[in-house]
Amino acid sequence: MTDTMRLDAAYIANTYARFPVEIASGKGSLVWDVNGKEYIDMGSGIAVNGFGIADDAWLKAVTAQLAKIPHSSNLYYTEPGAQLAKMLCERTGMKKVFFGNSGAEANECAIKAARKYAAEKHGPDCYTIVTLWNSFHGRTLTTLSATGQDHYHELYQPLTPGFAHIAAGDMDALRELAKTTKIAAVMIECVQGEGGVVPLEADFVHALADFARENDVLLIVDEVQTGNGRSGRLYAYMNYGIAPDIVSTAKGLGGGLPIGACLLGEKVGDVFAPGDHGSTFGGNPASCAGGVSILSRIDDALLEGVRARSKAIFDALEGAPGIEAVSGMGLMIGVKTVRPARDVVRRCIENGVLCLTAKDRVRLLPALNIPMDQLEKALAVLKEAAKA
Ligand SMILES: *Cc1c(COP(=O)(O)O)cnc(C)c1O
Repeated sequence: MTDTMRLDAAYIANTYARFPVEIASGKGSLVWDVNGKEYIDMGSGIAVNGFGIADDAWLKAVTAQLAKIPHSSNLYYTEPGAQLAKMLCERTGMKKVFFGNSGAEANECAIKAARKYAAEKHGPDCYTIVTLWNSFHGRTLTTLSATGQDHYHELYQPLTPGFAHIAAGDMDALRELAKTTKIAAVMIECVQGEGGVVPLEADFVHALADFARENDVLLIVDEVQTGNGRSGRLYAYMNYGIAPDIVSTAKGLGGGLPIGACLLGEKVGDVFAPGDHGSTFGGNPASCAGGVSILSRIDDALLEGVRARSKAIFDALEGAPGIEAVSGMGLMIGVKTVRPARDVVRRCIENGVLCLTAKDRVRLLPALNIPMDQLEKALAVLKEAAKA
């Protein structure tokens, strides 16, 4: 146990079951602990460090902005946010962007936009937002209410009203619900991340998109984890050929600094007026300068590299001893192991590889540009750890 671990146990709220590693520094896809032990990073800070840790171009953009103006508040104009919003709209066809500081805040904005649109267009009783069982949308009380996993709900009653959940694939349940309840929006993750890295079936996603369009129900896609190149496309919905009304994103967008973005499409682009929503830190110039650096380099070549790395992971792990199944998309991968996932992750840590879990799976979220040799080394360690 290190001094930091003792301080942490004494003074930090007991909300995390941390692994026994004290990180001292990192570069690219390598991390060093306080004892100088080296690890290959297969989690990238939960899909945040998209180009690896302290990527040179990102670091330059962020530190230059920090020296100019690190924070100014949203009372004034600053360049990085405007530039990042322009890039996001040009790359997605969305019309406007609201910046917050986290995934949960991006989803809060999506929910508020949907409620305001639906109330104005269809009346004050049109507020219900339908999400999927096994989804994860955040930890504020409202995004927790959106999250379709009961164990997150139990301790925090009463939840925000106005959410209903259906099973992935169950269009009949949605149509049945629509007979009795006015539906403002449906919200999905194209790949359920915290739910175990489960991609949605294309037929279901298309049926949902059709239903939404035909009924003026807004389609919200939560791209907090799947977004910013992770799925092998800029946003995961692009793998399905659908056009959402609202897209929320966060984790990988800032390249390592806190940022959340809610992208508003044609229908909701002008739903907000001054005073309707806001955030003190939202659109922070340093975070947005990092975002501009990241987004400008998520190009076809980078995405091709993501898909090639993804294939290498599937090829290495599918059918390997102790591995029952491999799921996911791009560099967002779930590995169902015979041994408990947490045991496998512990063994990986002992052998110099940092991985995550999601439900009963080992979850891999490496940097989008992880060097092939480091990826191969990490996969060899994981395969060994998964053996009985
Ligand atoms: C991580 C995550 C969130 C919450 O993001 P925070 O930044 O932790 O608030 C929301 N939705 C999805 C799909 C996520 O993976």
